[in-house]
Amino acid sequence: MPEKVVIIGSGPAGWAAAIYAARANLEPLLFEGTIKPEMIPLGQLAFTTEVENYPGFPFGNVRAFVESAVDKARHYNLPPAPNHTKDGQLHYAVQGVELMELMKQQALNFDTRVVSDDIVDVGLEGSVHQVIPASGEPIEAHTIIVATGARANYIGLESEEKYKNKGVSACAVCDGALPMYRGKPLAVVGGGDSAVEEATYLANLKNAATIYIIHRRDQLRASKIMQQRAFDHPNIELVWNSTVEEVLGDGQKVTGLRLKSTVDDSTRELEVGGMFAAIGHTPNTAFLKGKLEMNAKGYLKWTKAFRTNTSAEGVFAAGDVADDYYRQAITSAGTGCMAALDAERYIAELGV
Ligand SMILES: Cc1cc2nc3c(=O)[nH]c(=O)nc-3n(C[C@H](O)[C@H](O)[C@H](O)COP(=O)(O)OP(=O)(O)OC[C@H]3O[C@@H](n4cnc5c(N)ncnc54)[C@H](O)[C@@H]3O)c2cc1C
Repeated sequence: MPEKVVIIGSGPAGWAAAIYAARANLEPLLFEGTIKPEMIPLGQLAFTTEVENYPGFPFGNVRAFVESAVDKARHYNLPPAPNHTKDGQLHYAVQGVELMELMKQQALNFDTRVVSDDIVDVGLEGSVHQVIPASGEPIEAHTIIVATGARANYIGLESEEKYKNKGVSACAVCDGALPMYRGKPLAVVGGGDSAVEEATYLANLKNAATIYIIHRRDQLRASKIMQQRAFDHPNIELVWNSTVEEVLGDGQKVTGLRLKSTVDDSTRELEVGGMFAAIGHTPNTAFLKGKLEMNAKGYLKWTKAFRTNTSAEGVFAAGDVADDYYRQAITSAGTGCMAALDAERYIAELGV
């Protein structure tokens, strides 16, 4: 018997889809992926510390709740709680891994079946689809929800890796307001629309100091209107013809960047308290090339307005894998819910 719904991916979109599908008696089977340098189960949030903007999680004694809700067998996976207290109790915003473990637990509570494997191929020709895991037999499914996310591109420096979550980020909207960045000069690396958007977001924060846009050329790739926004902003300064050669720090936090000129051999140091990489994202769609319609950047195309349908019947997409614009946990969870509802209605029409 084909599965009613197979979900590929284990970020907010995948778990939200699983919760909705499971509660609708679709008995979802979810592939959560395996550990790789650029990608891990539980999605991109598993790479970050505190998440201050996911609704429902204000500062509080988060750890007590997480430990009460998440199966004891998975407590080993929880990172140490931040040492912030109020009235003698822990008081912090939910951490990325904690939030994702809670979502996974919620899906498990409704009997979602979870497989720790990658999907490496799909067959979408027939009326019943094939889903092919890296190890194990192909699986037949009436519907598939693709929720494989995207990964942020980084420059690729060792020092950048060392300071991730200590002053290096790839998401200003997510991290810019965190205390470690507040009121400090910051650098955004890149020259496209997203670099200008990230810089403008940071420059508009309360008490913002100078926000440097570091770009390898002498003009931005961003649209004219975005460029003008950067040029006109009193807090934004353009640093032309420069690349980041090294992220500098004291072991605990970023203190500056060593920049290398792209026109001569000179280098210089720039004092900043953080660096945001804005050099694009790579959607996790390589295994779907030629099977589903994608845009020029490799993101899956939603083919119906306000629906999660893709170019193949019965295949739905949710989260960052189809969204190169909002890229937030809450929007991913939202489209995960939509995909499950779309799958449920599709299955009802099939009459299976
Ligand atoms: C450093 C950082 C900090 C962030 N902070 C915030 C924040 O504070 N607030 C916020 O709202 N957003 C934040 N974001 C953005 C947020 O993490 C993403 O928008 C969100 O995680 C996208 O969810 P998703 O479910 O679409 O995919 P992802 O979270 O990307 O998860 C997809 C997962 O699916 C699995 N997978 C991929 N391919 C396969 C395959 N072939 N087979 C099986 N499994 C597969 C992988 O395990 C992958 O990790 C942050 C992002 C980063 C990088």
